[in-house]
Amino acid sequence: KYNLMSSENRLRADPYLYNWSRNLRFSSDVALVPDNMDQLRKIVTDPQYSCLKVIGTRHCFNFIADTYQNKPIGKKNAHISLEKFTDATVSREGPFPTIKMQPGLTFSKLIEVVDSHGLAIENLPSLPHLNVVGSLLTATHGSGHKFKILVDNIEEFEMMFANGQVKSFQKGKSPYFKHYLLTFGGIGIITSVTLRLEEGFNVSKSIFQ
Ligand SMILES: Cc1cc2nc3c(=O)[nH]c(=O)nc-3n(C[C@H](O)[C@H](O)[C@H](O)COP(=O)(O)OP(=O)(O)OC[C@H]3O[C@@H](n4cnc5c(N)ncnc54)[C@H](O)[C@@H]3O)c2cc1C
Repeated sequence: KYNLMSSENRLRADPYLYNWSRNLRFSSDVALVPDNMDQLRKIVTDPQYSCLKVIGTRHCFNFIADTYQNKPIGKKNAHISLEKFTDATVSREGPFPTIKMQPGLTFSKLIEVVDSHGLAIENLPSLPHLNVVGSLLTATHGSGHKFKILVDNIEEFEMMFANGQVKSFQKGKSPYFKHYLLTFGGIGIITSVTLRLEEGFNVSKSIFQ
């Protein structure tokens, strides 16, 4: 059903239309990389597109990040990368510190920003170069059975819907808060998340050989 790549073709692949290891080819016609919210809204409301899907760092092992193959005649499917959306603001107001960040950040960048404020995120997945939002939406976990999955750190998020409108959701206030999150990008586009932070701490690592 899907186009599994030969190693020769992988080298020529448009990186946005393939998963990270380039063995899976998504079914979109085009990949788009908007610079800002206005451009993103124009893409989302453009009638030439039938199905749109945002990609993070394309590390899913399956096709959940894909658009549908079937589309009406004359329409296109497109993938959108938000890698240029990298603003992040740390706040110490409120009961605990937070970071409000756009969806282009990887965990490496997130750690760099929060560490510069003497802060930390509770837990992390194994790879630092994963996109934060893509990981949150797929229930990515860190290490240790006492910790919840990373999406539990979200206090607030903003989502752009198919009509281009952006709505804000707050933990404990907005109904169906979590129902909008663990949807693999199928309901709307996350345009910002606010994560709960902790005071910075060190972790010791031992390697036994
Ligand atoms: C080598 C490797 C190591 C891994 N290690 C771990 C680990 O330690 N712990 C763990 O739990 N998992 C781990 N994973 C799994 C990984 O965390 C998930 O596959 C995660 O989804 C990767 O994020 P991504 O942005 O690369 O995913 P993508 O495939 O790019 O996206 C994931 C989903 O999120 C959606 N999405 C992305 N951004 C947005 C947005 N802004 N708005 C709406 N939808 C969006 C996409 O449409 C897609 O459905 C690992 C995977 C690999 C390949």
